[in-house]
Amino acid sequence: MFNAILIEKDDAGYRATETSIDEAQLPQGDVRVDVKYSTINYKDGLAITGKVPVVRQFPMVPGIDFCGTVSQSQHPDFKAGDAVILNGWGVGETHWGGLAQQASVNGKWLIHLPAGMSAEQAMSIGTAGYTAMLCVMALQRNGLTPESGDILVTGAAGGVGSVAVALLSSLGFRVIASTGRQQEEDYLKKLGAADIIDRHTLSEPGKPLGAERWAGAVDSVGSHTLANVCAGTKYRGTVAACGLAQGLDFPASVAPFILRGITLAGIDSVHCPVPQRQEAWDRLSKELDPAKLALIGSRTVGLSDVIPLASQILDGKVRGRIVVDVN
Ligand code: NDP
Repeated sequence: MFNAILIEKDDAGYRATETSIDEAQLPQGDVRVDVKYSTINYKDGLAITGKVPVVRQFPMVPGIDFCGTVSQSQHPDFKAGDAVILNGWGVGETHWGGLAQQASVNGKWLIHLPAGMSAEQAMSIGTAGYTAMLCVMALQRNGLTPESGDILVTGAAGGVGSVAVALLSSLGFRVIASTGRQQEEDYLKKLGAADIIDRHTLSEPGKPLGAERWAGAVDSVGSHTLANVCAGTKYRGTVAACGLAQGLDFPASVAPFILRGITLAGIDSVHCPVPQRQEAWDRLSKELDPAKLALIGSRTVGLSDVIPLASQILDGKVRGRIVVDVN
């Protein structure tokens, strides 16, 4: 038997409880993992409360990411004792996830925990930090270097934004952080931002093309902000788009693409191919300054705290990342 959060939906309604589950009920998978840590993301909040139907099969163990140790494996790349990370692949939505002491998953979804990174550190970086690294990799793949010019990060005080600011500044880029929380200016400067701009200067409908202000951007906001970010990108610059905090829409024109040759690089962390995932996590282990990770902050809670925190995260009452020690 092992402990888990379980979401059920039946005649009695939609509910999540902390419960004890028989190992025999674990879903099929070629690798069995003793989970050490998981996290609570916004998507887990949606799943646990049932506010948005992200869970498609019941019963479901939520938890879109986890870190743990392999206990049994039929997959050639993993053996008992290996430390592994999983994020995405629909885990916690269509396949039992990480908010449990055990998981049974497809080995092709796993990557090895980089040497020198602890399981708790990996989960404090989480899906947000890994997505920030995928964005940085996209900018570099398109040729951006510190000499190309400034890099804008939108939603800078959020999970993805904070790690993006930290990584880019450590790589020598001059970072402009866009935030709606001016009280976070000091925090963002400590993470490495050179300039802070008010997000409201980017969030209203703007011109198809503006002054060339940045060589690249990491955008976690979407909507008018993304359109304005593209309109202010320098000739042949690159914008990595990963989020929709302002909205799913993209009310832009083709002008920045056909007149300035800019590139819009889409970032999907969920189905990202394994070699790029492994590269992202390996780079995070080497390039994310531990002091900056500590500044971004996370707190560790137990499985019994998960259900109340799920509603709080949806109400915007949670700051920083939440790591769950499932044991
Ligand atoms: P957070 O909630 O931690 O951060 C989002 C930030 O966006 C906020 O902190 C705020 O930054 C800014 N923001 C919020 N609302 C608005 C608004 N209405 N207009 C403009 N800015 C706003 O989320 P994460 O950093 O974890 O995720 C960021 C985005 O990326 C989300 O949309 C998330 O769904 C998406 N995501 C996508 C992934 C992928 O695979 N593509 C993976 C992970 C996340 P500030 O306070 O500084 O203004």
